[in-house]
Formats: sequence, C-alpha cells, structure tokens
Amino acid sequence: TTQKRLKAELLSVTSEEESRAEASSDKDKNESVSITVVGASGDLAKKKIFPALFALYYEDCLPKHFTIFGYARSKMTDAELRNMVSKTLTCRIDKRENCGEKMEEFLKRCFYHSGQYDSQENFAALDKKLKEHENGRTSNRLFYLSIPPNIFIDAVKCASSSASSGNGWTRVIVEKPFGRDSESSAALTKSLKQYLHEDQIFRYFDNYGIIRDIMQNHLLQILALFAMETPVSLDAEDIRNEKVKVLRSMRPLELGNVVIGQYKSHTKGGVTYPGYTDDKTVPKGSLTPTFAAAALFIDNARWDGVPFLMKAGKALHKKGAEIRVQFRHVPGNLYNRNFGTDLDRATNELVIRVQPDEAIYLKINNKVPGLGMKLDRSHLNLHYAARYSKEIPDAYERLLLDAIEGERRLFIRSDELDAAWSLFSPVLKELEEKRVVPEYYPYGSRGPVGAHYLAARYNVRWG
Ligand code: NDP
Repeated sequence: TTQKRLKAELLSVTSEEESRAEASSDKDKNESVSITVVGASGDLAKKKIFPALFALYYEDCLPKHFTIFGYARSKMTDAELRNMVSKTLTCRIDKRENCGEKMEEFLKRCFYHSGQYDSQENFAALDKKLKEHENGRTSNRLFYLSIPPNIFIDAVKCASSSASSGNGWTRVIVEKPFGRDSESSAALTKSLKQYLHEDQIFRYFDNYGIIRDIMQNHLLQILALFAMETPVSLDAEDIRNEKVKVLRSMRPLELGNVVIGQYKSHTKGGVTYPGYTDDKTVPKGSLTPTFAAAALFIDNARWDGVPFLMKAGKALHKKGAEIRVQFRHVPGNLYNRNFGTDLDRATNELVIRVQPDEAIYLKINNKVPGLGMKLDRSHLNLHYAARYSKEIPDAYERLLLDAIEGERRLFIRSDELDAAWSLFSPVLKELEEKRVVPEYYPYGSRGPVGAHYLAARYNVRWG
C-alpha cells in the first residue's frame, strides 16, 4: 500500500509539473514582450542596455516572443541600428564560446523607429509597428528611458497615451538622476504619477556633484540593505518596508559630519594629470565636490551609537566599492596587555567587496602556530572568481530582467526616495548657500586629509 501511495504521489507530482510546464508554454505562445529603448542613439544604450539585453538573450532569460525597438530623433535604418549595436555586443557570459550565431539571431530581433520625444503621433506610429510584431499575442511593453531627465515627462506622457499595452502590462524604467533635491524629486514623481501608477515605474539612479551622484543613491541603498532588519519575506514590498524604516530612523546629515573635496592637477613621473576645473566643460572656480566623506547615524535600538561612515570620490588612487564592518575594540585586550603587541588597535574586520573582484573576507587577529605567542593578521576569504566559474551578471542585466519579470525588489519606491532625499537635502542646501569651498586633493591621491580626521573622530579606519 505504501508503495502504491508513493507511486500515486510521484505520479501526481509529475502531472502537476507537466501541467505547470504546459501552462508556461501556453503563456509563451500567447504572450510577447516588446522592449523600447528610448534614446537608443545615446551612449548608455550602446554601452550598457543593448549588451545587457544580448547577455539575457544568450542566457535564455528573455521570453520566446520578444522584440527590441530603438527609439530616438536621429535618423537610422534598422540595419544601421544593428550595425551600431553589434560593435558593443560581447560573449561576456562565457568568453570561450563563439556566440556569433546567437548575435546574428539577436540582431534580427532589433529594430529602429525615429521620432520626437514629445510627439503623440510618432509614438502612435511606434505602437503600430509594435503591434505588427506582437502579432495578436498579449502585448507586454517595457520602455527604458535612456534620455536626459528634462525630457522624461514628455516621453512618459506620449508612451503611456499612444504606445502602452492594450491587454498586457506596461512598465517604464527611469534612469538616474531622479531629481536634485527633495522638491525636484517630488515634482518629478508627481508628474510621472499623472501618467503611470507607482507599480509601473522602475527607477534607477549625475553629475550633480558626488553627493547626489553616488552617496544619496548608491551608497545609501547599500547602507539601507545592510542595516535593515530582517524582512518578513524576500518579497519586494517586505524588503522596501524595512529599507524605508531604517532610512526614516536616520538623522539628517549635519554639515559638521561632512568633508567635501575636489581634485586638482598633479604631475607624476613626468605626466601631468588635469584637475577638475581644467576640464573645458566645467565652469571656472566651480565648487562642485568630486569627493565627499560623511558620518551618519541610525537612531534605532540595534544601531544606537554606531557610526556609519561613507566616502566616494573621483580621481582617487584606486577604484572600488566595499562595505567594511570594523568590530569594536576589545576592552582590556589580554594579548596586548601580556605581549605588548599593537594588534589591538587593528580590530577584526569584515569586508564585503562589491567591486572589483567580488569577495567577502574576514580580517582576523590570530596566533601564529608554534610554541611562542606571536600574533598575526590573516584573512578568511571567499573570493567569488576563485570559488565560482560563472561570471556575475552586469547590473543592467539584473535590472532589465527584474523589470520584465515585474520583480521590484531592487527598485526604489517613492516613499524610500523621499526618505533618502530628506537625509541629504538640508546639507546640500547648506553647502550651496554657504558656498563651502572643497578641500583640494591631488589627482590620484587618497583624497582630502579632512576625511581622515572625520574617521578618527569616530574611531574608524578607512580601508
Ligand atoms: P545622451 O546624452 O547620450 O542622450 C541619449 C539620447 O537622448 C541622445 O542620443 C539623443 O538622441 C537624446 N538627447 C540628448 N540630449 C537631448 C536633448 N537635450 N533633448 C532631446 N533629446 C536629447 O545620454 P546617455 O546615453 O549617456 O544617458 C542616458 C541617461 O542615462 C541620462 O539620463 C544619463 O544621465 C543617464 N545615465 C548615463 C550613464 C552613462 O554611462 N552614459 C550612466 C548612468 C546614468 P537623439 O538626438 O537621437 O534623439
């Protein structure tokens, strides 16, 4: 009897799997996804968006029926778009593979439509072409706004009224920068919401100075993900709820806890590297920070009294993105007391390296094996490239796939954006009103000395 029941259960599992597979292949037959890259003649589209779409295609992550349209004012034929795009596609996923055939297949599914960003008529003509490709299937449409922010609203208005899906979903990915302070970000959200619901907007986060460019968005996102409480589930709304909670528990950044810098020209080995204001496009005497360091605080039970230090800069001695967790000094450190080592100052540290060369490692103080009592610093290291042969997908691949699948975990919600801006807007305003002069640092250096004083005030060591 047990065997019979097991067999029956196995059969029922198999038939459930079969019916699920049938259902998904039915869905494939009846559904299409049209991806329109608005601003397709631009740099970002060429460098990032088309290559990411190809990588997804190569990995079989795109739905069976998909079409990609480039949209911009420049005049181009489909063949010219394909030629432009083909120059930046690479077999990134597995460099040993020959993916020429796959590239050809992919390019055949890319088309171009020239139009203005504020023309309902031009978007209606795009709609007609999309419909031909969708061929009566459920039409799902994704618009990627790879255009300057001042034309976001026009494009959203025309895309939503003249080229949105009639029977499937319509989603819009909005590139950064999303506003330059609380007011402009709120105004942009308000305008977008005239044409779209929150669940149709997928934000992403320039050069408005390093604080707006990197800190207020990228670094703050990493901080929120790191410091949030465990979400109820991995569902997008549960994660975003926790992120908003932690952001709202933070103190707005104070001027006394910020150091700003700007790189200046530097000559090394006979080569002169230009300073920020040597660039012809930068106004003379510009005070725009190209470096910033800040100390932030989260007023909740878990993080009370723990300083969170952030820094970001251009033209520094090295490039990288990492989180460093420095554990507290051990009171009455026995090793130091008994053996006179100075290792107590360098406490254990957990490093999560996001870029380059992804890794998680723990720097620990340990005893050197042997009869004596000697201490050493060593690493417990998870180096991703050494452990896993597969490449980590590019951020744009993740973003596009999530938008196609309606996965919102990594996108920013309006209330989260409000909370993020309210932490930085007052200090940004103060820096501008008081015309605070940045501390100059040589091109290729470790940044302004002031950042080190800031860290020392909070007993933190920069990596
Ligand atoms: P571009 O300046 O290259 O603009 C993209 C396209 O938009 C252009 O090819 C042009 O197309 C059209 N365009 C440009 N200026 C105007 C204008 N004033 N009025 C109307 N149309 C215009 O931008 P990128 O491709 O570099 O970036 C696109 C978006 O992504 C921007 O918002 C940028 O801030 C953001 N971003 C870019 C990154 C990058 O690495 N490049 C990184 C992160 C964000 P046409 O003339 O054919 O219509």
